[in-house]
Amino acid sequence: GPDLKVISTLSVAFDHLALDEIKKRGIRVGYTPDVLTDATAELSVALLLSACRRLPEAAEQVKSGGWTTWKPLWMCGYGLSDSTVGIIGLGRIGQAVARRLKPFGVRKFLYTGSGPKPESAAEFGAEFVPLTRLAEESDFVVVTCALTPATQGMCNKDFFGRMKKTSVFVNTSRGAVVNQEDLYNALANGQIAAAGLDVTTPEPLPTDHPLLSLKNCVILPHIGSATYATRSTMAVLAANNLLAGLRGEPMPHELKL
Ligand code: NDP
Repeated sequence: GPDLKVISTLSVAFDHLALDEIKKRGIRVGYTPDVLTDATAELSVALLLSACRRLPEAAEQVKSGGWTTWKPLWMCGYGLSDSTVGIIGLGRIGQAVARRLKPFGVRKFLYTGSGPKPESAAEFGAEFVPLTRLAEESDFVVVTCALTPATQGMCNKDFFGRMKKTSVFVNTSRGAVVNQEDLYNALANGQIAAAGLDVTTPEPLPTDHPLLSLKNCVILPHIGSATYATRSTMAVLAANNLLAGLRGEPMPHELKL
C-alpha cells in the first residue's frame, strides 16, 4: 500500500523484493544474514551426501524389497575423498559449506564469482576460476550464490554439458539460477551423475514435474535454514529490524539500497 514504510524479510535473500520501487519510495528493508549461514551450509552438505551416496533411493529399496543378496556394485555412488569441489558464490554460505566439506578429504576447492576473494579463499586454498573451468574440473558443484540478473539461468545446457558424467550438482541458492529443463536433460541422459536441489522453479514444485521422476535427483522443499534454533533467531532478528524501522532507528540488519 501507499503507506508502506518498512519491510522486514525473514531471509538473507531479497530477490523476491521489487528493489527499484522500494528505493524510489524510500522504504527501508531489514533482512536476516549470518544467523542462517550454519544451518543452510549444514543442509547443503546433507543434500550433497544424499545425492552422491543415493540415500533416498537406497532407503526406498529397503522398503520396497529391492534389498536382496549383497552385490559389489549395488547402490554405489561417489564420495568426497580426493575430490575437487567447485563453489559458485564463495559468500557466507559458500565458505561455510567449504569449511564443512574440507574434513571429508576434498583435494581441491575451486570457486567463481564476480571476482577473486583471496581473504575468503585462503582458508581452503581455493582457486578462482571461470565458470566453464569450474564445470569441467569439479566432481561436486555447489551453488550458493545470490540470484541476480547475472546468475539467472547460469547453470544451463552449456554448463551441464561441460560437467563430468561422474559429477554431482547441488543447488541451495535459488531455483532460477538453474535452467531446469537443461538440468532434467543432463540427468536423464547421464550427462551428469546426480543432483540435489533445495530450491526450484516454481516453489512448491508441482508433484507431476519431470524432475521428480528421476532417481538421481534429490529434491527438498526449501528447508535450508529450517532448524528450530535458526528459525527462532531469524524471527527475533526480523522483529527487531521491523521495530527499529518503525521507530526510525538503525536496524540490526538493514539492507543498503
Ligand atoms: P552472500 O551475499 O554472502 O553470498 C552471495 C555470493 O553470491 C557472493 O559470494 C557473490 O560473490 C556470489 N555471486 C554474486 N554474483 C555472482 C556471479 N555472477 N557468479 C557467481 N557468484 C556470484 O550471501 P549468503 O551466502 O548469505 O547467501 C547466498 C544465497 O543463498 C542467498 O542469496 C539465498 O538466495 C540463498 N539461501 C538459501 C537458503 C535455503 O533455504 N536454501 C537459505 C539462505 C540463503 P561475489 O562477492 O564474488 O559477487
